[in-house]
Amino acid sequence: MTEAVLQGPVVVLGGGLAAVSFVGGLRSGGFGGGIVVVSDEVETPYDRPPLSKEFLREGVADKIRLDLSRARDVEWLRGTPACKVDTPRREVLLADGRSLGYGTLVFATGATPRRLPALQDAPMPVITLRTLDDAQRIRAGLAPGARLVVIGGGVIGLELAATARGLGATVTVIEALDRLMNRCASGTLAAVVARSHLERGVDIRLGRQVTGFDGHAIVLDDGARLEADLVVVGIGVVANDELARAADIACDDGIFVDRLGRTTCPGVYAIGDVTRQRNPVSGRFERIETWSNAQNQGLAVARTLLDPTATPYADIPWYWSDQYDLHIQVAGVSMGDDEIVRGDASVGAKFSLIQLHRGRVVGVTCMNNVREFSSLKRLLGNEALPDRAVLADPGTDLRKLLAARRIF
Ligand SMILES: Cc1cc2nc3c(=O)[nH]c(=O)nc-3n(C[C@H](O)[C@H](O)[C@H](O)COP(=O)(O)OP(=O)(O)OC[C@H]3O[C@@H](n4cnc5c(N)ncnc54)[C@H](O)[C@@H]3O)c2cc1C
Repeated sequence: MTEAVLQGPVVVLGGGLAAVSFVGGLRSGGFGGGIVVVSDEVETPYDRPPLSKEFLREGVADKIRLDLSRARDVEWLRGTPACKVDTPRREVLLADGRSLGYGTLVFATGATPRRLPALQDAPMPVITLRTLDDAQRIRAGLAPGARLVVIGGGVIGLELAATARGLGATVTVIEALDRLMNRCASGTLAAVVARSHLERGVDIRLGRQVTGFDGHAIVLDDGARLEADLVVVGIGVVANDELARAADIACDDGIFVDRLGRTTCPGVYAIGDVTRQRNPVSGRFERIETWSNAQNQGLAVARTLLDPTATPYADIPWYWSDQYDLHIQVAGVSMGDDEIVRGDASVGAKFSLIQLHRGRVVGVTCMNNVREFSSLKRLLGNEALPDRAVLADPGTDLRKLLAARRIF
């Protein structure tokens, strides 16, 4: 790969959080050249986490707009998909026939939810949740008593289930695996989350798949029929990397980038959900689909483009999730070969979990325990932990412990 060099004009594909963070970072860092952001969405940029939470409850789009105050003098082309990238000519072709020349191109094209072919012609609305428009359609279907079936027991499906219960809907969650939040939570956390949903009356079907529909019912592989007014499919996303792939940039469900955001093509960078990057905790190339990654990778790539001596991006991945009164924060890798439970891991309690792999801390989780999260994150990557009993004792002051062991 070549040096990270900023050549204007800068063209950014996609107008989500990563793009806004990146262009804000360029302007705050003193870049005075031309910047164009090409977005296929007509909406002015908005934040996605509230789409499964506050926005579904309140329906106020103005409350979820991203702050564009740092992104001064940026040309926004909205409702304009890019349809081809010609890297030898350094040109982007837009669906409306225009072409844009670039010195530096940045993919911030995010990801698209997977669909469920078995429900393609179903008579009830079958919606995925990614855009403001999706959330508006779901909200319209969530009247009290509405029968919602959520397919997929991951974070987004469960947040939606929690919000829908709060709005008085009847909710069933169907998960193909034998537990919830399989990709992103330890078994201990997943069990607490499952109990919270069951206590609120959510019907959870584990180890079940949808085979099709029969009238207004969803049919499962055990023959069960679930009458539904609305179905929301939350079974993961695929990276919007098709333009990069067509331009021979290395991709594998995500555009490969290094810590400077560089792709395998000179002058072309990628940030946010569309990237496949080395996870500093697992050491593997992964897609990191979190708000903090979109925000901080966008900022870091702007910084290193402006100043090659700036620190490259290597943040520990982390996310939060809000379901009922549970505020969950998870950093690093959510599963190891050993776990230390700090506090009482039961519903309604506050506790933390420390995941270990071969004696090294690889992940930390906080449940309703925001004050501990940043201290716990500092344990990541460390070996030779303090005594297990000391760490498991919620009375132990982590800050003092870390300071004494010079873990910063
Ligand atoms: C419902 C929901 C709830 C979430 N909740 C949380 C949470 O609680 N905590 C957390 O950490 N994370 C959460 N996330 C994840 C977080 O919001 C995302 O990781 C983040 O928004 C990714 O930002 P991005 O800019 O990389 O991608 P996106 O926000 O997806 O932006 C990419 C944009 O590019 C556009 N685009 C794609 N192709 C083209 C093209 N060819 N031409 C032009 N434009 C194009 C897309 O339409 C999109 O507008 C949530 C996500 C969703 C959907």
